[in-house]
Amino acid sequence: MADKRDYYEILGISKGASDDEIKKAYRKLAKQYHPDINKAPDAEAKFKEINEAYEVLSDPQKKAAYDQFGHAGMEGFAGGGYSSGFGGMNMDDLGDIFSDFFSGMGGFSGFNFGGSSSSRRNGPIKGDNRYMSMDIEFLDSVHGVDKMVNLTVDKMCTYCDGSGAASKTDIETCPTCRGSGRVVRQSRTPFGVVQQQGVCPDCSGTGKHVKKICPHCGGKGYNTVKEQVEVSIPAGISSGQQVRLAGYGSRGENGGPNGDLYIEIRVRPHKYFRREGNNIHISVPISAVDATLGTKVDVPTAYGDVELSIPAGTQPGQQLRIKGYGIKDLRTKNVGDQYVEVQIEIPKKLTKEEKELYEKLATNRRKESVFDKFKKSFK
Ligand SMILES: [Zn+2]
Ligand SMILES: [Zn+2]
Repeated sequence: MADKRDYYEILGISKGASDDEIKKAYRKLAKQYHPDINKAPDAEAKFKEINEAYEVLSDPQKKAAYDQFGHAGMEGFAGGGYSSGFGGMNMDDLGDIFSDFFSGMGGFSGFNFGGSSSSRRNGPIKGDNRYMSMDIEFLDSVHGVDKMVNLTVDKMCTYCDGSGAASKTDIETCPTCRGSGRVVRQSRTPFGVVQQQGVCPDCSGTGKHVKKICPHCGGKGYNTVKEQVEVSIPAGISSGQQVRLAGYGSRGENGGPNGDLYIEIRVRPHKYFRREGNNIHISVPISAVDATLGTKVDVPTAYGDVELSIPAGTQPGQQLRIKGYGIKDLRTKNVGDQYVEVQIEIPKKLTKEEKELYEKLATNRRKESVFDKFKKSFK
């Protein structure tokens, strides 16, 4: 999926475009490339591409994931249930995949409580999200890295599929509430008999009664397990961005899926490299003689040493660019550059031989020094 085009680029809008601008751009292009109207051979492919871009950018949740991680955010690199390409899918399929990916664990089938309005109130609820942070090294942020983390998570019991019952035949309709999950209580008050509806105390509102509980989870329907989980941190991530682990948040209620775990990445500062946008900056010391005469140096980059020509007459603070040795943008996949700032080092101590050479230079230049020229301009 490396050659997928940027969604903003497809719609011809900038990243900061408003919802209105996104809609307008989409409508205009969709009309232009609609296969019924446009008979160009690539119109249908274009039309699909436009729809796909709009599908993501018009949905706040998908847009946020895309803005942060680009197409990787759509792949579910952090554990979402989506890894195949878009090829050959219609928009309905796409919608299903996205709703799975964004609602957390696809295939986490909950307990079926039936559809009456009273039981729906006690229906599956997704668990809360959890948050943690992780420190990574600068070079790992450039290249991407897989990290193992130890997590404690409530996992649905696979023996009873979360029902808490030893077998399917051990689940029966709750006799107290007859499956509704609600009971009507009558209480006598000085004003007469008052009817009150409440959650069934025998089934906690599930409407089901378990005759024999599942021996693998003690009837809870889930087990608390410690798990080593691999977290894929994409290349180009910067401090403050988050990686999402679907299903590793808090346990859902009534058979609802777990929430998600968000890991905020903190990139440790590097001793020499500094990130600015997608560019990497580094300062390197060069002797005054080398800067004057020009030289070649092997400059460290995030991808190994690169030979760089320091041209004759290079000035202190001058920046030289090594193209394509910066950071790959998470979203656009464009790669930044490395900037090398030249620091001229003036020697504090000279050997006897060096001193003689410098003095020779000085006498040669005494006719008119840079300082003389400067003084002349004052008159
Ligand atoms: Zn009940
Ligand atoms: Zn179980």
